[in-house]
Amino acid sequence: MNAEQLRRYLEFYQDLKIDVLYKPAAPVERLVAAAAVSEPPAKPVEEPAEMNSAPEALPPMVPADDSLLRIIQDLGDCRRCRLHEQRTKIVFGVGNERAPLVFVGEGPGADEDAQGIPFVGRAGQLLTQMIEGTAKKEGIEIHRDDVYICNVVKCRPPGNRTPEPDEMEICGEFLYRQLSTIHPKAICALGGTAARALTGHKEGVTKMRGRWFKWRDFPVMVTYHPSYLLRPYNQEAKKEAWQDLKKVLHFVYD
Ligand code: URA
Repeated sequence: MNAEQLRRYLEFYQDLKIDVLYKPAAPVERLVAAAAVSEPPAKPVEEPAEMNSAPEALPPMVPADDSLLRIIQDLGDCRRCRLHEQRTKIVFGVGNERAPLVFVGEGPGADEDAQGIPFVGRAGQLLTQMIEGTAKKEGIEIHRDDVYICNVVKCRPPGNRTPEPDEMEICGEFLYRQLSTIHPKAICALGGTAARALTGHKEGVTKMRGRWFKWRDFPVMVTYHPSYLLRPYNQEAKKEAWQDLKKVLHFVYD
């Protein structure tokens, strides 16, 4: 690897907000090869006034002709981290490849692991209600399958524990490509893990929710994870999550 390739390689990880590097699961040459081709044409994004971080000029890191199908093929029967050992199914993502809005959760739970589809358990049902219910109330005609839904990691962490940094880093290559390929108008981070992974901010979700951040040039709205909202004593948080969703839906669909 020459100095320029090394610089781009390190910037790629910096962009993923990763500051510790482990031995890469894929050969470095593959990542560098992916870095050498261009990204989809930039679409002008109307930025919310209260955006919390400055836009960064980043090198192209995604194959020009990338697609969700190609990413799934590259992911294959992934064994790049320890999470593959106990998974039943890889949970890649679901929804519209051209979605203007992407929801990113933390990682699959038991129902998602069994079905291979994100957010299909109780938290998923609440997420569907939140998306469809809020949209309907606000006069926005969308359904769950009009958006795209995925997670920071694609295999269930045992016992639903929080994914480890190296697991998020390894899976991050694929999340990066998914988000870049879909090229949404905005991303909604569900819960603290997704919020911190996407934005690099270290605050708790209570501080971050309702505010705009950025992942690359894409606006990121942070809100609570639906699992948190399912707890009976979190009624106030539920109201706040509804407000956050209203904000992001109007930004994307108005
Ligand atoms: N929780 C998540 O973070 N993701 C899912 O897909 C389901 C539950």
